[in-house]
Amino acid sequence: MSTLANTNRSLSDWQAMAAGLNIQTGLFIDGHYQSAKRQGSFASVNPATGQTLAMMALGEACDVDAAVANAQVAWRDGRWHKLAPRQRMDVMFNWANLVEQHGDELALLECLDMGKPITDVLNIDLPDVLRTIRFFAECIDKLEGAVTHTAANALHTIVHEPLGVVGAITPWNYPLLMAVWKLAPILAAGNCVVLKPAEQAPLSCTRLAQLFVQAGGPAGVFNVVNGTGQEAGRALALHHDVAKITFTGSTAVGKLLMGYSGQSNMKRVALETGGKSPQIFMPDLYDLDAAVDRAVGGIFDNAGQVCNAGSRLLVHRSLHDQFVDRFVTRTRELYQPGDPLDPATTLGPLASHAHLGNVQRRMDQALADGATQVLPTPAFTGPGAFCAPALFVGAHNRMAIVQEEVFGPVATVQAFDTEQEALMLANDCQFGLAASVWTSDLNTAHRMVSALEAGVTWVNCFGDGDMSQPFGGYKLSGNSRDKHASSLTSYMQIKSSWFNLQR
Ligand code: NAD
Repeated sequence: MSTLANTNRSLSDWQAMAAGLNIQTGLFIDGHYQSAKRQGSFASVNPATGQTLAMMALGEACDVDAAVANAQVAWRDGRWHKLAPRQRMDVMFNWANLVEQHGDELALLECLDMGKPITDVLNIDLPDVLRTIRFFAECIDKLEGAVTHTAANALHTIVHEPLGVVGAITPWNYPLLMAVWKLAPILAAGNCVVLKPAEQAPLSCTRLAQLFVQAGGPAGVFNVVNGTGQEAGRALALHHDVAKITFTGSTAVGKLLMGYSGQSNMKRVALETGGKSPQIFMPDLYDLDAAVDRAVGGIFDNAGQVCNAGSRLLVHRSLHDQFVDRFVTRTRELYQPGDPLDPATTLGPLASHAHLGNVQRRMDQALADGATQVLPTPAFTGPGAFCAPALFVGAHNRMAIVQEEVFGPVATVQAFDTEQEALMLANDCQFGLAASVWTSDLNTAHRMVSALEAGVTWVNCFGDGDMSQPFGGYKLSGNSRDKHASSLTSYMQIKSSWFNLQR
């Protein structure tokens, strides 16, 4: 069954399916759902309606301890990493097939929990989840070690071994996808894992773990503890039996995690953090209309809640007015708030009312700092955390709206006169996740790409790529890469073994 086949469902079809959803509220430890040890709970709220979807088990430090202990038992007895590579591959492929078969249910959980339009979950998130699991499953039996040249009386081997128990802490903007970018290489490498999803979107990842077990994955290998970052996330990151923490989220929390590592067992810390990505539109770009359409999508898809969102639009002065006019027109045509369950909806609410307040405060600050809002926020009635797309002109690099991540549907436009000025504006930022250049000159493109301080760059496109693309940032955007085969070995360690032979 293809998840894409279901986009022909109507709003009432999805509403009926949502009404019949059986939401699992437990933590997922040692192969089954269980309640939190201290019986605490927290509400999972639908940001489109403000209604509580479910009361979820609240994992605390004691639950993290239990999950890590179970994962340690699974690691030590080798029930996963000692399987033949083909057996692990079979489980991973079965898992992907089950995720695909349960695509409707997972899409609904994601849509209701986080407010993401159902069409986006089906067309973007889920296909990418499946690609990721299958990509890393395919990698499992391709991994090779080395035998080095030695004297005849020695044999020296270099092999990759899994780390043991890995902790993964993930955000709410793509709850399943950001988790799977970690989980697929962690599991493919033979590790056991304890995942702490974002408390704003706790519904889908326990189901993912249950499907792993249903696919033949041994109990205790993949555990999920829902709970707050300050309690469950912190406990996981401070745990002495966790060999590595892999994290996607804010830069502020990423910095804390490095501290927790130093305070505990010096575990490895892999960070995918914030962004403030520039898009540079050079005067010779070949199709302004096409470029503007991509710029609009680059900031307003997923309501701007994208780490690499192209929020800083740097436009050559000769194109500026035309660019802004078309940007405003196309945004109004393409992004209208609506019910995320409606397949026609392109703009859902923000993930929570608290986050809406943060975004609104940043827009108010931009106005107070002297920027001009040319894409006004239309009134949207109803209880949802909706935020209509906003564009600010007249911004400059000392304004917070240009320097700080908003993580909402908010872009700025700045005019420039020269290539050097564009690069200076682009690089004058603490983040370095992604950047793009629009030009019809190959030399210009090559020169500018090599000057841009970003881990991911695009030329004449934005957000394109596949599994071969390492994804991660420079500077305060992080210190590691997701996707790409190399992330498999980032969840492994090297063992060098020297054999003294009698010859
Ligand atoms: P966040 O940092 O608030 O939370 C992320 C996760 O960290 C959550 O699971 C949260 O519970 C946990 N957490 C919070 N405090 C913690 C603590 N003290 N100890 C341990 N864990 C803790 O981020 P968010 O608001 O969920 O997500 C938005 C951020 O994620 C943005 O900054 C965005 O740029 C970033 N992001 C980055 C990428 C990337 O690949 N670089 C991708 C998606 C999102």
